[in-house]
Amino acid sequence: MLEGGCNCGQVRYAIDAQPVAVAQCHCSNCRRQSGSAFSVNLVVPKDAVTTSGDLACYVDGDTQSGNPVNRLFCPKCGSPILSELTANPMVAVKAGTLDDPAPFAPGISLWNSTRLPWVEVAEGIACFERNPG
Ligand SMILES: [Zn+2]
Ligand SMILES: [Zn+2]
Repeated sequence: MLEGGCNCGQVRYAIDAQPVAVAQCHCSNCRRQSGSAFSVNLVVPKDAVTTSGDLACYVDGDTQSGNPVNRLFCPKCGSPILSELTANPMVAVKAGTLDDPAPFAPGISLWNSTRLPWVEVAEGIACFERNPG
């Protein structure tokens, strides 16, 4: 069982699965939401995740596919927690909110077309210009 939560402790979650993928995402929406150069996410089945506490939702309609992404975050401290891919049974959990993110090095890199020029991608990571497929 993987566990994590937000900065203020109001939101906690548990994941009863190993991630299908660990993805870093260099899209500008992830950049704004994380306030950092890119986001790192565990891709896991939606029904493997249980959350407790209040989550606020921003419905992000600015996507390549046109399918909105529900970006869930703690309304008290602002920590981003996970994104629901509405056309897909997977969710993307923000790896930095895990109690122990250390084991989850990214295996794939998304939206390299908008990756900042000073961000290097580690060798051996599968890179996609945008989303895969
Ligand atoms: Zn919080
Ligand atoms: Zn992204």
